[in-house]
Amino acid sequence: MNAILRAEGVSKVFSDGGPVSFGKAREVVRAVDDVSFEIMRGETLALVGESGCGKSTLGRLLLRLIDPTSGKLEYDGQDITALSRHGMHDVRRKAQMVFQDPYGSLSPRRSIAQIIAEPLDAFGLVKSSKERRDRVAELLTQVGLPPQFMDRYPRQFSGGQRQRIGIARAISVDPSFIVADEPVSALDVSVQAQIINLMQDLQEQKGFSFLFIAHDLAVVRHIADRVAVMYLGRIVEIGPKKSVYGARQHPYTQALLSAAPEPDPDKKSRRIILEGDVPSPTNMPSGCAFHTRCPLAKDICRTERPPLTEVAPGQRAACHFAKPNPILVG
Ligand code: SF4
Repeated sequence: MNAILRAEGVSKVFSDGGPVSFGKAREVVRAVDDVSFEIMRGETLALVGESGCGKSTLGRLLLRLIDPTSGKLEYDGQDITALSRHGMHDVRRKAQMVFQDPYGSLSPRRSIAQIIAEPLDAFGLVKSSKERRDRVAELLTQVGLPPQFMDRYPRQFSGGQRQRIGIARAISVDPSFIVADEPVSALDVSVQAQIINLMQDLQEQKGFSFLFIAHDLAVVRHIADRVAVMYLGRIVEIGPKKSVYGARQHPYTQALLSAAPEPDPDKKSRRIILEGDVPSPTNMPSGCAFHTRCPLAKDICRTERPPLTEVAPGQRAACHFAKPNPILVG
């Protein structure tokens, strides 16, 4: 299984753009900080972390919806970091996004047929209006909606149905990679499982790779092959789901996952409550960014940034004191 997408040292810095004057420094937010990882062909990688940790920004960077400040992005072996708008045309067809807010991402003045056909037209995938309507009908069926709904408008659908429409639009161009940014968090709990199952079924049928951005750890446990944990713009742990859930190494992962519901009633893990607030990304702590809240922090943590180091096959953690896992190594 080779990588569909590779990020190498990718950072995104936002500045308020104002002048540095009157003794007031320009506000600089390091939203994504030197992130390196890969997404393999056909896999689902879940990206988790508290809100504001940079998950959505990273998702947008991978699709070049925003440009990185530094670092390199490769899609399907091709360096896309500096590709022009024109050069990105083919990549845009292969890499799609499903948004959190299914209403806000659908134009209220356009019919469902127009919304779903937009990418088909943009990439010249249909040649006549009959072919366009046939394809829209097929896509609506694939996402579990009656084709005769195609001339209705977004306001006539429930939240779950609108998310199905967003998914139909994303898969219309037969992508090989989809970023889903909190795709079920705006939906009723009763509808969430249906949408998750739909996305899993479509992935099985079509084989696309999936970056699933989420904060619901029960959903992540259900859907992910691998899990990446973000804290203050950095990936602090990444690995197969079984390793990250079962033998988590980073103290932040341990705290975050201690809040996740445990499916096995015989296994009860102690809830770890972190002290203090998440520091402002405008004023990143030195060394390990987690040292201000970490119960295990030592002097070295305040001055030296820990690299992501392999602790078991495929599992890496960024902590000076992460140890190779005896259960999973050897
Ligand atoms: Fe905690 Fe230090 Fe490890 Fe950071 S490097 S997670 S502060 S023990």
